Amino acid sequence: MEPKYPLKPTAEELFIIAREQYPGANLSLLERAYAVAAAAHDGRKRYSGDPYIIHPTAVAISLAKMRLALPVVVAGMLHDVLEDSPTSAEELRKDFGDDVTRMVESVTKLGTVKYRGVERYAENLRRMFLAMAQDVRVVFIKFADRIHNLQTLDAVPEAKRRRIALESLELYAPIANRLSMGEIRGTIEDLSFRYVFPKEYTWVVGLVQGQLNQKQQYLEKLRAIVAKELAQASVPVSTISGRTKHLYSLYKKLLQHERDITKIHDLVALRILVPTVSDCYATLGVIHQRWKPLKGRIKDYIAQPKPNGYQSLHTTVFAEDGEIIEIQIRTPEMHESNEYGAAAHWQYTEAGKRSRRPDKTLPWMHDIAKIQKEVGDHKEFLEKLETLKLDVFTNRIFVFTPQGDVIDLPEDATPVDFAYAIHTEVGNHCTGARINDEIATLNRPLKSGDVVDIMTDKKRSRPSGDWLKFVKTHNARSKIKSEAKSPADWLMSFLPPAAKKSGKTKDS
Ligand code: MN
Repeated sequence: MEPKYPLKPTAEELFIIAREQYPGANLSLLERAYAVAAAAHDGRKRYSGDPYIIHPTAVAISLAKMRLALPVVVAGMLHDVLEDSPTSAEELRKDFGDDVTRMVESVTKLGTVKYRGVERYAENLRRMFLAMAQDVRVVFIKFADRIHNLQTLDAVPEAKRRRIALESLELYAPIANRLSMGEIRGTIEDLSFRYVFPKEYTWVVGLVQGQLNQKQQYLEKLRAIVAKELAQASVPVSTISGRTKHLYSLYKKLLQHERDITKIHDLVALRILVPTVSDCYATLGVIHQRWKPLKGRIKDYIAQPKPNGYQSLHTTVFAEDGEIIEIQIRTPEMHESNEYGAAAHWQYTEAGKRSRRPDKTLPWMHDIAKIQKEVGDHKEFLEKLETLKLDVFTNRIFVFTPQGDVIDLPEDATPVDFAYAIHTEVGNHCTGARINDEIATLNRPLKSGDVVDIMTDKKRSRPSGDWLKFVKTHNARSKIKSEAKSPADWLMSFLPPAAKKSGKTKDS
């Protein structure tokens, strides 16, 4: 099997892949980027002893494999040039333009904060989210950079090795998850796992090796049966394949199941891709006619996607010979979106090919959908995305708790919205806020990157109806409305209408 992320790629490999991924595109900018990077890193070596240029080349290849737009690949090729050589941003700007140069500058800036354990975690996360809020493409470059660094971690000194792996597991993987990039997340987690928990890693690998060969033969048998059944039912099929669970996610699942691998039913799964949503449901019907589903194991993530946008039908069935097996059914568009998430929306697409439906569960995707609708023509849409500041988080801000948790709010949200986003009780009893260590009023509009500390008083405070004048979230509004009534108002609501008029005359 061809590795997804090559370890020591050459320029030839990069351009073979680029020509495959971007048929007919003009690659001269990428050629120039390769030449500039090769000159800038000339004489430099990786810890492994390899010439440094293999690293940006591998990063550019990863980005090309994700089929991101070409300027992102060019920026990936150049991503370490500013940090590693006397080349200046102005020089890059002359050669590659403002868009590419700014991506390179952002990646460089992100690299300057070193992970120093939990206390630096919030700061790192904050920077990542800020970079993302400005240009999510920068984060894709960081992921590609990190994946190659993890792949070549063996050569890195012990102490540094652990730090990088831990940071990847605790910082990069959750962000990939947040961006619904399931494949990238799994890759980052699996590559880090062996360095962060070496013993556990060896144990899980041993478990899997014992099972996998036999399971894969069994899957092959099921694949043939499913293909035949679907053909008989005239359901069109795109592909049927087996998938093996990522190691780290298997490890986490084992911990929930007494470390007993026989309790894990999705170590391998059969994945069926069919053209449309109705084909998905038809396929589920065909499967359930042939094999009995396990109770409570049918999950419709198409009608109800996971919070990160993941869509698929899952069912676990008693298949041939009484074996229990998970089956996942989805369209190719859902599959692409599940694997690459946010990145799928930044992909280069051949003109004329129908674009996918933007993910409905992530609010910022609506903006992209809107542009798409307004522009109509697919090619023009792509051009607009290229030139537009690729700010997928327009209208959203990311604000932090003092512990570094990220709260995602609409623009101009206030400390009260923030308090209710944390917990209803925090909202109900909030008395004041500190924004970036300064006392602030409860109606001050928040900005991305603010660290907000809510002060509460459980005994005395309760929500004020005045807050309704400035809150921005539906959540805060509805909770204030239901809590803000004074005890007297509350009692009054039980009285007949006549009694409520007490003390008031018609003329007043
Ligand atoms: Mn790098």
